[in-house]
Amino acid sequence: MVTMIKYLGKTILALMLLLGLTGHGAAKTKDCPGNKNALGVSRTVEIDTTGGPGFGFQHYKAYDFLKPGEVVLTFDDGPLPGPTRKILAALAKHCTKATFFPVGKLAAGYPEVLREIAKGGHTIGSHTVTHPNIAKKSKKKAVDEIEEGFSSVKIALGKPGAPFFRYPYLQDSKETISYLGTRNIAVFSTDFDSFDFKIRSSKKLLSRIMRKLKTDKKGIMLLHDINKNTARTLPAILTRLQAGGYKIVHLRSKTPVETLPEYDAIAKKKVSGLSASAGGRPMSSVLRTVEE
Ligand SMILES: [Zn+2]
Repeated sequence: MVTMIKYLGKTILALMLLLGLTGHGAAKTKDCPGNKNALGVSRTVEIDTTGGPGFGFQHYKAYDFLKPGEVVLTFDDGPLPGPTRKILAALAKHCTKATFFPVGKLAAGYPEVLREIAKGGHTIGSHTVTHPNIAKKSKKKAVDEIEEGFSSVKIALGKPGAPFFRYPYLQDSKETISYLGTRNIAVFSTDFDSFDFKIRSSKKLLSRIMRKLKTDKKGIMLLHDINKNTARTLPAILTRLQAGGYKIVHLRSKTPVETLPEYDAIAKKKVSGLSASAGGRPMSSVLRTVEE
């Protein structure tokens, strides 16, 4: 091992320090009741987010940690009861795990759905509070969006999520990248965008994903749990991944995100404000799709 690290040089050494590979918690196919052909989880990768490392080759190329055939499933923009629950059911049927990047406003609106995601053993990061293009915001507004997003997830979930952040529209800015670094929050781009927000046909979405995987062999896949077509197509995607011999890698953080008290207070106010204006009705019966 020592010889190998020396041989591969500094980059790989840094990568190995950053990513702790653990086997526990991984559901193997044989452990998945009622599904002999389950994808399961082939390995769980723990990420030390100190200094705010970036992942996803579309933007950040420092850490090439996936082996050929390995796929990380990620879902943005939820939670939304209908499609998110369908997605959770499809993942559960395969005893497999994903990473979700919820929008804070929706997390506050549907806290019960967010908790179901956590109950399913998935990792929950954040995707801002209202899904703006951060690159077009002032530093102050961008920081507010980032921090309130994490705080909203924490309030809705009842505990902090992972220090994993994805920029809306994948539009980052130098200023906020450095800021996230100081906050020890990892940034996730993608290795390939499924374009599921554009593709309305199940067949087309499935064939785009499988075609892309055939070329790339591996990757962090970007999907949207707010999207009905994605929810409808996911069972077929998972079946095809399993049949194609692809392996699912589950990401999790070494430590939870440390939210800032002033933003927790803002998030809390907004959640209770929604509750009061709803006249005591459960929030999910009052709120509908707000915005993507
Ligand atoms: Zn998004």
